[in-house]
Amino acid sequence: MPARVLDGAAVAQAIRAETRPHVVAFSSRAGRPPGLGIVLVGDDPASELYVGNKVKSAAHEGLRVDLERLPAAASLADLLALVERLNRSEIHDGILVQSPLPEAMGRDAERRVFDTILPEKDVDGFHPVNVGRLVQNRAALVACTPSGIVELLERSNVAIAGARAVVIGRSDIVGKPMAMLLLHRNATVTVCHSRTPNLPAVAAQADILVAAIGRPAFVTADFVKPGATVVDVGTTPSSDRALVESLFAPGSRRREAFERRGSLVLGDVHPGVADVAGALSPVPGGVGPLTIALLLRNTLRAAEMRVGGAAL
Ligand code: NAP
Repeated sequence: MPARVLDGAAVAQAIRAETRPHVVAFSSRAGRPPGLGIVLVGDDPASELYVGNKVKSAAHEGLRVDLERLPAAASLADLLALVERLNRSEIHDGILVQSPLPEAMGRDAERRVFDTILPEKDVDGFHPVNVGRLVQNRAALVACTPSGIVELLERSNVAIAGARAVVIGRSDIVGKPMAMLLLHRNATVTVCHSRTPNLPAVAAQADILVAAIGRPAFVTADFVKPGATVVDVGTTPSSDRALVESLFAPGSRRREAFERRGSLVLGDVHPGVADVAGALSPVPGGVGPLTIALLLRNTLRAAEMRVGGAAL
């Protein structure tokens, strides 16, 4: 039997609907809506798309959203000055700097930027203060993608407590916070990466398998215990016809989308996993919409904390 679909789009809509009345209430109390400043450096097409979705969604939910653009040739000093301006702004409760930054800014640039954003405006949850609080299970602002995955699991009635969870990927933005959130919910967590020996065998012990790698169709059926819940975080744009044809049958919805557009966003999970897993989040329509919903919720939370004076 094919795996149950974990409908991230529906869960994201539910979270947005729950957030809406709080946005209205905040706006009437504070005399202004919660404000989000988004910084985009350069013109990377994928980043344009992600940022465009965030701006549209935030505006749709009644938030104030300002997109601040810098040219690809901007210096790190220019970017840090812009972040400092948003830190001082009374009308911006949240700040998001879209990754990746241009390589010319240097290897350390992202870290310098995340360190500069005020922790109370850090709606991405990347500042070391928020990461430390997450480790201690007392964070108010947690990275959006892993928080969204927890919402997806809980609202889809996937039991986390007592489950064996395997997270493939150890990035600061997905893998590590994902592992912490699962651990705090009493899963027994293993984090895997590119140096993990016997990866398929380790993954196949999981009741909950989270793939956050960035390699299309890397997780094949032999990684998956029959009946396991599989969450596919990967979003790799691809125009590789041979790859797409190897993954999706002629006439299938995804193959037709490829024929129309000439490219597809591919997940880390091979379509064949649907025959083994008990539940599976799709790409698209799985984790992506949740990331945006959690960004909106974090912005509201940051606004309420700043204006209400609640401790972070
Ligand atoms: P990342 O920083 O590149 O990290 C990738 C991780 O995968 C690393 O820990 C790496 O291991 C591991 N990895 C790479 N090749 C591997 C292999 N052959 N075997 C085992 N592990 C391997 O990526 P990220 O930022 O976490 O993102 C991961 C994916 O999620 C990307 O496709 C990204 O676009 C997507 N994403 C989606 C959303 C969303 O909203 N849908 C949000 C964020 C990210 P090492 O540490 O050993 O190098």
